[in-house]
Amino acid sequence: MDNKIIYEQHNWEQLDTSRLAPKIQKVLENIPADVRSIIDIGCGNGVITNELGKKYQVLGVDRSRRALEFVITPKLEASCDAIPVEGPFDMVFSSELLEHLPDQVFYDTIKEFKRLAGKYIFITVPNGENPDKLSIRCPSCGYIFNRPNHLRSFRVQDFNKLFPEYTIIRSFTFGKKVRYYHPLLLNLKRKISPATAWIPYYWIPRTDRHAICPRCEHPFFCPWRFHPLAFAVDVANVLVSPKKPYWLFVLMEKKEAHV
Ligand SMILES: [Zn+2]
Repeated sequence: MDNKIIYEQHNWEQLDTSRLAPKIQKVLENIPADVRSIIDIGCGNGVITNELGKKYQVLGVDRSRRALEFVITPKLEASCDAIPVEGPFDMVFSSELLEHLPDQVFYDTIKEFKRLAGKYIFITVPNGENPDKLSIRCPSCGYIFNRPNHLRSFRVQDFNKLFPEYTIIRSFTFGKKVRYYHPLLLNLKRKISPATAWIPYYWIPRTDRHAICPRCEHPFFCPWRFHPLAFAVDVANVLVSPKKPYWLFVLMEKKEAHV
């Protein structure tokens, strides 16, 4: 499944630098001192890319032409699993990309990261997220999917497996603390309450509940309706699930670069 329409229709105009300022600062602080050139893969509207461009030679890559209109560094319209550029760059940077990729694209993207990285790979992803937590149901075809289209979740050990040729030189969690959802409770909630009760209003504001079904491409508004059983499960979850910082940052260095 190709989610092209979803990313073309995404609200890229909302270049929310203020909300992301602490994250951008954290990214800048953690770029190794010997980095000069960066390829930012899945750069979106350049909210981070444009900042990187003030200090580094940056190439922003994204598949969405509309998103790239906001990128002011050199840029390239391409899918992250086949990037028509030779490289290498001192550092491959990728923020909030990998969790969106279906399997076939994901593994080819990992290969592209390795091909294009001269020395470092710097990735940020949601921290061990449970993507089912933000499930909604398409009112047209009944398909259940994660509203922000997150398909996979990562912990730091996953990067050891994905990048055996690299050493993790820094990893940490960062950002606003968000509550996790116990998978069994989530399953229970989905069984005993209607889809409109699955995502409480305080997780996604009422004004921000538009979605596009990745299966049938039906655009719809997903309202929130109170349901006592869903509420009861949410309360139970507060008792068993901790809050953790939203992002995971992982900085890796190519092993042969030490030699
Ligand atoms: Zn659908």
